[in-house]
Amino acid sequence: EGACARSYKITLLPGDGIGPEIMKVAKEVLKMVGQQEGMELAFEEALVGGAAIDEYGNPLPDSSLALCRNSDAVLLAAIGGYKWDNNTAHLRPERGLLGLRAGLGAFANLRPATVLPQLVDASTLKREVVEGVDIMVVRELTGGIYFGQPKGFGVNEAGERTGFNTMIYSVQEIDRIARVAFEMARKRRGRLCSVDKSNVLETSQLWRERVTEIGKEYPDVELSHMYVDNAAMQLIRAPKQFDTIVTGNIFGDILSDEASMLTGSIGMLPSASVGESGPGLFEPVHGSAPDIAGQDKANPLAQVLSAAMMLRYGLNEPAAAQRIEATVFNVLDKGYRTGDIMSAGKTLVGCAQMGDILLHSLSQSTESH
Ligand code: ATP
Ligand code: MG
Repeated sequence: EGACARSYKITLLPGDGIGPEIMKVAKEVLKMVGQQEGMELAFEEALVGGAAIDEYGNPLPDSSLALCRNSDAVLLAAIGGYKWDNNTAHLRPERGLLGLRAGLGAFANLRPATVLPQLVDASTLKREVVEGVDIMVVRELTGGIYFGQPKGFGVNEAGERTGFNTMIYSVQEIDRIARVAFEMARKRRGRLCSVDKSNVLETSQLWRERVTEIGKEYPDVELSHMYVDNAAMQLIRAPKQFDTIVTGNIFGDILSDEASMLTGSIGMLPSASVGESGPGLFEPVHGSAPDIAGQDKANPLAQVLSAAMMLRYGLNEPAAAQRIEATVFNVLDKGYRTGDIMSAGKTLVGCAQMGDILLHSLSQSTESH
C-alpha cells in the first residue's frame, strides 16, 4: 500500500425499479471506502434490462456487455418490472441477466445466508435455531438440467404429450465448481458439504466422485456429502451445522432460496456470480421491487453488501469489504431500519437517509491496517 494505489474499473448497472436508488447509495459508499483504503476506483455506468429495452430495444446491448467485459468487476442492482412483463421472449429484461452471466462466463453462484444478530427476530424460525447461522451456498450456474440437451416436448408410445429435460454434468464442469467451493471453505470455517442425489441420479454419482477426488487437493478442508432431500430438512432443523455448501444448478437454486429465508430479510442479502477469469457479477438477491420503486422506501443494504462481496471476492480487497460490513453492522446496532426490516423501538428511515447514515458512520470508521 501507499505509493502505488491499486486501481480498478467498475461497471455499475443500476437497471430497473429500485435499482437506481440503491445503486446510488452503494456507489457513494464505494467512493468513500476507496479513499479510505487507498484504492483508485473508476466507475462507468451502462444500461441493462428494461431500461436498455426502452433505450435500445435490447435487454443487453453489445456496448453494455463490452463495457462489463473490460472492467475488473460488475455491480448490478436489479432488472425487470411490470412494464415489460408481457413482452415477447427476446424483449424480456431477464434475458439481459442471463446474457450477462453467460457473457462473463460466470459458472459459480455464491449466496451467503448470514443471520445478523440485530435482525435475528426477523426470521420466522426460533431464535435458538437461527442465531449465529452463517452459510455460503456455492451453486453451479451454467450446467445441469436447466441447460442440458436434448430438451423439449414430445409424444410417448401411448400418444400422450410429454415434456423432457436432460440432466448432464461433465467432469470439467464439476471439477471447476468444486475448486471454487473448496477455496471458499478454506477462506471460511474449513468445512464443505456437497449436496447431491447420488442414490438416484448418475450425474450425482459423478458429482460425488469428482468432488471427493478434488477434495484430495484440499486436505485442510473437511468434506461431507448429503442427499438433497436431507439437506432441505437439515437447513430448517439445524442450520448451524453448515459452513459452505456446494451443489448443482437445480438443487442450488432451491437450497439457496431456502437458506436465504433463514435470515428473514430479502433486503439484506447479497450474491455473486463468478467465473475462472474475467470480472465477476455482484448483485442483491432481491428483485427490482417495482411496488416500491421511486418512493425512497427501498433497503439499500443488500446492494451495499453486494459491493462488499465485490471487494472481497472480485477485487481481492478484504479490508475494504470488512470496513463496509462493519459499517452496516454499526448502523443496525444504532437502530436504523428501512420499512422491510422495521420493528418496535427502531428508527424508520428511507433509502437516501440510510445512505447518509452509512456514509457518516463510514467516515468515522477507524483505520484498517
Ligand atoms: P424478481 O423476479 O426480479 O426476483 P420479485 O417480484 O420476485 O422480483 P422482488 O422484486 O425482490 O421479487 O420483491 C419481492 C418483495 O420484496 C416486494 O414486495 C418488494 O417490495 C420487496 N423488496 C425487495 N427488495 C427490497 C428492498 N431492497 N427493500 C425493501 N423491500 C424490498
Ligand atoms: Mg423473484
